[in-house]
Amino acid sequence: MADEIEPANLSLTNVTFDLEYAPALESKSIVSIDKEYGLFIGGKFVEPKDGKKFVTVSPSTEEKLSQISSASAADVDRAVKAARKAHTEIWGRMSGRDRAKYLFRIARQLQERAREFAVLESIDGGKPIRESRDVDVPLAAAHFFYHAGWADKLEYAFPDRRIAPKGVVGQIIPWNFPLLMLAWKIAPALATGNTVVLKPAETTPLTALLFAQLLQDVDLPPGVVNIVTGAGATGSALVEHKDVDKLAFTGSTSVGKQIQRSAAARGLPLTLELGGKAAHIVFEDAALDQAVEGVINGIYFNQGHVCCAGSRLLVQESIADSFIDRLKNRMSTLRVGDPLDKNTDVGAINSSEQLGRITALVEAGVAEGAEIYQPSCALPAKGYWFRPTIFTNVQQSHRIAREEIFGPVLSVLTFRTPEEAVAKANDTQYGLSAGIWTEKGSKILWMADQLDAGVIWANTFNQFDPASPFGGYKESGFGREGGLQGLSAYVSLSSPRGAS
Ligand code: NAD
Repeated sequence: MADEIEPANLSLTNVTFDLEYAPALESKSIVSIDKEYGLFIGGKFVEPKDGKKFVTVSPSTEEKLSQISSASAADVDRAVKAARKAHTEIWGRMSGRDRAKYLFRIARQLQERAREFAVLESIDGGKPIRESRDVDVPLAAAHFFYHAGWADKLEYAFPDRRIAPKGVVGQIIPWNFPLLMLAWKIAPALATGNTVVLKPAETTPLTALLFAQLLQDVDLPPGVVNIVTGAGATGSALVEHKDVDKLAFTGSTSVGKQIQRSAAARGLPLTLELGGKAAHIVFEDAALDQAVEGVINGIYFNQGHVCCAGSRLLVQESIADSFIDRLKNRMSTLRVGDPLDKNTDVGAINSSEQLGRITALVEAGVAEGAEIYQPSCALPAKGYWFRPTIFTNVQQSHRIAREEIFGPVLSVLTFRTPEEAVAKANDTQYGLSAGIWTEKGSKILWMADQLDAGVIWANTFNQFDPASPFGGYKESGFGREGGLQGLSAYVSLSSPRGAS
């Protein structure tokens, strides 16, 4: 409310406001969640052989949403058999032109049902509706459109090569972008003539199951995509299955290493998209207001549950104090709360386990001597929440500077010269992404050349496009998703007959 003032004194400089946003809740009515779900195998929902189920909850309310089937090794075997049959009899023989028609249909259906997918994603995963509505779902549709375009043009993608699909691919995805990671995996696989067995993460299965219903609606031939829900044991059964021709995994570095060992022993093609600890580097000559927005977006987008999150801020020493003040000021305006409120900037932490991991690492940061700052925002009484957090006084050796926190926590370090920034940025086991803020084009190019990161943004952050390959170096994995490089992971290429 405006303070009481004399009308004669009315001017913008002496009126103070304490305005509250009214809630702007997205309605849940567009979504219907079944009491329980089967496994999607051979185009139908089927019960798991041993009848095992687990519960998926809403992380913002702790409400039980549905009972989800837990696929055993026997169920995974059924799914792989269905995928093999579909590959041999239908999908592997279908022309690219016809495969494209299905991919276009899927893309258009995702657009038509965008609100339903976005609301369900926010309910099951905790991310703000603004993000699921404006980022996850549109990008998922864009991936299907993009790959639909390639399906009948593969001979232009790989000229002078004989092109064959790999066959049956096993795909395992994490919980931070459930529908988007599904699209990153399924779209290139189908475009190139492969069939799929996909395992979603255990805390966020609902949009994958809604996607299975969408596949029934577009009449995708049975068995072309199979979705087996469950936890790590289900993923492991898929990895170990003898009749899978290629594996694609997005998740933690520790599980990625286990999968790499298993795939290497069998000479199985594998792509790994793993963790990150990206450096976000701000020089004194940067446009500082834009850089503040970029850094905030880089770490607090999706509660920091982002593999390429800019979780280490490297700021030039000459501007460090004033830049940190600006950051804290901006942090105080972030709205933490109900993911379905369109005003929300930071939603719920995906699970109580993840909240525990974030809390433990933040406690380690305090114990190691870093200085913590959190704005005093009110948090909802139920659900899993963590305040946006910034650590200053951080040393390179601190756990918060080295380990992936995968939460809304920014560690700030300083540098004096570009060489020191590069040395600090590269002093990590990871190599997924980096951000550079400076007005000097030459500095951007020099830095980009020096940084060990698969994706480097300059004067922006978190920009994604299906045509642009994404992936890491070092312990962030190998292989690329998106673009021609992403397509190439799903085909076997050989010289055409007669070529030398
Ligand atoms: P996670 O490795 O625990 O789980 C990922 C998936 O693997 C889940 O579906 C899980 O059920 C399954 N899984 C677990 N154990 C398995 C096993 N032994 N064999 C086979 N599958 C198994 O990771 P998470 O906690 O779900 O996801 C967070 C991680 O994912 C972070 O490290 C993040 O950086 C990474 N990530 C990377 C990218 C990228 O593109 N590089 C994108 C998103 C997330």
